[in-house]
Order: sequence, then C-alpha cells, then structure tokens
Amino acid sequence: MKRQELMVAAIENGTVIDHIPTNKLFQVVSLLRLEQQRTAVMVGYNLPSAKMGLKSIIKVDGKYFSDAELNTLSVVAPNVTLCIIKDYEVVEKKCVTLPSTITGIVKCNNPKCITNNEPMATRFVLTDPEAGTLQCQYCKKEQPLENVKLSATIQL
Ligand SMILES: [Zn+2]
Repeated sequence: MKRQELMVAAIENGTVIDHIPTNKLFQVVSLLRLEQQRTAVMVGYNLPSAKMGLKSIIKVDGKYFSDAELNTLSVVAPNVTLCIIKDYEVVEKKCVTLPSTITGIVKCNNPKCITNNEPMATRFVLTDPEAGTLQCQYCKKEQPLENVKLSATIQL
C-alpha cells in the first residue's frame, strides 16, 4: 500500500473515493449524502498527490454505492478513482462516467427558469460531452460543467 493511503485509516469493507479535487470534497460529500451515513466515514483533506498537487480522499466503511450514485460524482469530480474494499483488499477499481441525462443534481443558472421557482427536480442533457456542456431541458440555457452548482435539495 502506498504511504499516502495510510494517512487515512484503512477500512475492512466499503468504498474508497480517491483523487477528489480538494475544492470539490464537500460537493462529493453531499452528492453521496454522507451526512446520513451511519457507519464510519473517514475524510482526508488536502493530502499531497503526485498527480494533482493536493487531493482529498473519502473512505466509507460498510457501504457499497450503486453505479448510479457513483456516476453522479462525475458532475463535480469526473476523475475520481473508486476502490471497492473487501477484507482490507481492493477487489475492484472503477471510474465514474458522465450520464447523458442528469436529473435533480445540478442547479440551473437561469434565475427565471421554472426549476428555480417551483419545487421540482432539474433535468439537464449533456449536449457536448467533449466540452462538457449541459443544457437545461426546461429553459434550454446551457452551462459548462466546470461551473455547475448543485441543487439545494438533491433529488435522485
Ligand atoms: Zn433552466
């Protein structure tokens, strides 16, 4: 095991979310609803990373997420690495993929959009996967993925 991984205690069974950009850590926490998690959650913030300079890492004990839950992370942190841990061993590594439709996660940046004025889930389509452009399906306004804000109440 690499030394920096040991900076956050190992877990017996569960999920490790690694290579989180440090400024996206708290968005990842809310996307995975970790504040509702009843098992141990260990967070390493501002850890040195050869690849990224600084990174954050989250280890969630006793929890395996669905692919749909994990893919929501691609909206804020497309390059995270996921490790599935069983008996302290990495049994699977995964990456996240950006879904073509994103429902209930991203806030529309048009203040007049109905989704900002009615209690409803937003819906975006990835219109340009390479540039990372999302288009609101209600008001048709486009926004770049790197600037997205998350909905106040995330509805998956
Ligand atoms: Zn909109």
